[in-house]
Amino acid sequence: MSERLQGKVALVTGGGSGIGAATARRFADSGAKVVVTGRRPEPIQAVADEIGGLALTGDVSDEDHCRALVTAAVDTYGGLDILVANAGVEFFGAAVDVPLEQWRSVLRINLDGVLLSARAAIGPMRERGGGAIVILGSVASLFGAPQFVSYVTSKHAVIGLTRSLAADYGPEGIRVNAVCPGWTRTEMGDRAIQGLGDMKGVSFEEAVRLAAKHYPLRRPADPSEIAGCIEFLASSDASFVTGAVLPVDGGAHVVDVGMVAFAD
Ligand code: NAD
Repeated sequence: MSERLQGKVALVTGGGSGIGAATARRFADSGAKVVVTGRRPEPIQAVADEIGGLALTGDVSDEDHCRALVTAAVDTYGGLDILVANAGVEFFGAAVDVPLEQWRSVLRINLDGVLLSARAAIGPMRERGGGAIVILGSVASLFGAPQFVSYVTSKHAVIGLTRSLAADYGPEGIRVNAVCPGWTRTEMGDRAIQGLGDMKGVSFEEAVRLAAKHYPLRRPADPSEIAGCIEFLASSDASFVTGAVLPVDGGAHVVDVGMVAFAD
């Protein structure tokens, strides 16, 4: 157990599973008081019980919910220092076929949800004289991808939002950074890998291997490996880092897709 986040109060959206749950656990291990939020009551309550935190259920794309979350953090723990804007959803499909309703739903959760949780958090962070916001991008923030137009668009947009927030609130000591995970073994990651396995008619294990085949590290991430980078950006170790976009992707972003045929 480190004391990196001793005395800090953190809010983690989508904290009931995957990267959010790993982050909530890691923050609590480092001494932070953590408010965990998400749509499903059972998993967030389970994580909150495990780490001695506070669970609040709701939809991150609802501005009233975001304000209520921040109020609860302030009322319960006396303030707010860290926001991890992690809640997100994926939906597959290309531009011509994607139902407009799905497109809007992905953008509402993945983009509006980040804006709304960030702007709810900024007031209390100001009162503390600063704070740190870590936003979950993706390798889909850095590249286009087939059949993934809503998700890719939403994840590119959060990079613009990260940089805008960093520029606007840096003068008040609020740092805003993004992490961009590659394949990570979570509910979302495993759903996509299962879909790949079904499409190719191969086992789940083979689909995992195929998905990470051209990653320099040749494997997907464990959620704890993403949480470690989120903790770094949230902590004072990153006190001069803002507006950064950190790929945490096993090296995927350095591979030239035009050359991978030579590695097969
Ligand atoms: P996950 O499905 O385990 O976690 C997402 C969480 O967000 C879930 O707990 C879900 O209930 C919550 N959520 C969804 N919609 C919500 C809403 N409207 N309001 C509140 N909570 C909501 O998946 P994960 O992989 O841990 O994803 C976490 C973040 O990491 C997401 O933003 C995702 O896009 C990003 N990401 C994941 C991967 C991966 O391979 N797993 C890769 C790159 C980026």
